[in-house]
Amino acid sequence: MTTLIDVQNVSMLYDGRVRALDGISLALRAREIVGLVGESGSGKTTLCRVMMGLVRPTGGDVIVDGTTRLIDMLRRDRLAYRRRAQMLQQDALASLSPRMRLRDQLAEPIAIHGMDKAQGWARVLDLLTRMGLSHGILDKYPHQISGGQARRVAVARALVLAPSVIVADEPTAGLDVSVQGDLLNLLLDLQAELGLTYLVASHNLNVIRRISDRIVVMYLGQIVEQGPTDEVFARPAHPYTAALLSTNPVVDPARRRPRIVLEGEIPSVVNPPPGCRFHTRCPQVQDRCRVDVPALRLNEGREVRCHFPLA
Ligand code: ADP
Ligand code: MG
Repeated sequence: MTTLIDVQNVSMLYDGRVRALDGISLALRAREIVGLVGESGSGKTTLCRVMMGLVRPTGGDVIVDGTTRLIDMLRRDRLAYRRRAQMLQQDALASLSPRMRLRDQLAEPIAIHGMDKAQGWARVLDLLTRMGLSHGILDKYPHQISGGQARRVAVARALVLAPSVIVADEPTAGLDVSVQGDLLNLLLDLQAELGLTYLVASHNLNVIRRISDRIVVMYLGQIVEQGPTDEVFARPAHPYTAALLSTNPVVDPARRRPRIVLEGEIPSVVNPPPGCRFHTRCPQVQDRCRVDVPALRLNEGREVRCHFPLA
């Protein structure tokens, strides 16, 4: 399978001390939906921004299409990568210009990228229809539309250039549950119809469970577990994943598990704990975990960073 974006051992140190990402490797393959989960501060947004080339990592590399370094690609032609990968920002409304009518905001990418005007505009109208938005919305300003509509407009604007990759940061944050469901259905339909590849970051486990084929769990800037979504949900291998999943509200009583309450505060990434980063909160902690850094090891199709995995 083609690897579209390959994150190789990427680290991100803000201000020389905030270790937001530490040795992240993640390959995004064509047409898959990867879900990124982890508590607030675990580095999800930073990873999204690194993959979009919006911030330059302080270590490691991002390789596009298996051959080209992202920084070289951006240096050569910044816009070319934008036609390939688009980001849905966490705050859809804030990503729209408050003083421009939606018509002009949707026309903007067509002009910037020198797309054929008529073709580009036909695509905009088709996308709006797919989003279930009436064309009358084009004459409105962002403050005149709802949060759910703003999300849809942002999705339409991201898709005008027919990118193959969408990086969505907390795409459902701030939306009512029913609107969230509609938006996820829409994203899934678009993925199937247009053959898109998604990286979706969310602290909402139900969102990730619903949408992703593969789940990547982050803790303090590192990947602690990754594997097929269904398998990870059924049988979490890292104690952090198990705790995270146990706090997820599950409707079906047969699938409910006892809640694992994590002790202690989330440590700071400025001074992460030695040994296993999770050892200060881990219910299964043993002496070795306090001193010995666990590697991310492959175990039956699952990657787990733990000396004593559960599964
Ligand atoms: P998440 O999206 O999972 O909440 P972030 O990527 O936003 O995580 O943040 C990861 C860590 O990096 C946090 O400790 C955050 O405070 C820090 N951080 C994020 N952006 C910046 C920045 N521009 N400058 C300094 N620190 C930052
Ligand atoms: Mg975030």
